[in-house]
Amino acid sequence: MEISFAGKRALVTGAGKGIGRATALALVRCGAEVTAVTRTRSDLDTLVLECPSITPVCVDLADWEAAATALQDVGPVDLLVNNAAYAALQPFLEVTPDQFDKSMNVNVRAVLQVSQIVARGMKARGTGGSIVNISSQASQCALRDHAVYCTTKGALDMLTKVMALELGPYQIRVNSVNPTVVMTEMGRLGWSDPDKAKTMTSRIPLGRFAEVEDVVNSILFLLSNKSNMTNGVTLPVDGGFLAC
Ligand code: NAP
Repeated sequence: MEISFAGKRALVTGAGKGIGRATALALVRCGAEVTAVTRTRSDLDTLVLECPSITPVCVDLADWEAAATALQDVGPVDLLVNNAAYAALQPFLEVTPDQFDKSMNVNVRAVLQVSQIVARGMKARGTGGSIVNISSQASQCALRDHAVYCTTKGALDMLTKVMALELGPYQIRVNSVNPTVVMTEMGRLGWSDPDKAKTMTSRIPLGRFAEVEDVVNSILFLLSNKSNMTNGVTLPVDGGFLAC
């Protein structure tokens, strides 16, 4: 299946590392003009070295005012990938308000903010668009020490559905991908211990974690016109974990 984004403008958050970085590069390979938004300047520097056509925006998306300023001149966007997220593992009885607030601000509130900015432009231009939020299997399945992360991703799934409902009339589709563990920096945080990893892979019918490319391919599909009638779905990329 050939996917082309020639003539399309894309914005990817959390594009400095992991899934977001690979998504930004894949979008460029498919012909899109890409704006990469992330927090660490050196990640943007290496990304632009690797792919000079990418437009970098350095901002901490936990900061509403800073994000509003950084994105005010971002220009028209046709394809949005809300990928940036924060994960801090704490047992439920030890969850702290600062970790709760930071996680909600990045994983949910920033998705709302960036999507508002982008979708207002899509609506004004009348061109439609496609938004993909990066959620997780953790939105639908309780994981030990993941109380806050699971909560943010559960909220994100519902945000995806309400956005799909309200933006659909403007031909803006909104979907999420919900991966199982991927061994990025974030994945290594929770799943590097081989015994712990085995408890997870043993619950995945395909018997393995997802690769970055598995997730990127699903993102590209949902962004593309190959999924033109798909709106408001939370697509597991989990080898069957959520089916069991
Ligand atoms: P990652 O390797 O840790 O990359 C996350 C990227 O987001 C980094 O570039 C990070 O920048 C950026 N970011 C985080 N907080 C930010 C903020 N406040 N402002 C701007 N940028 C920020 O993570 P990943 O594994 O690729 O995760 C990507 C997405 O997949 C996330 O939504 C995650 O929840 C989801 N996911 C991951 C897994 C997994 O096992 N890896 C599984 C399911 C879902 P800094 O490094 O500078 O903070």
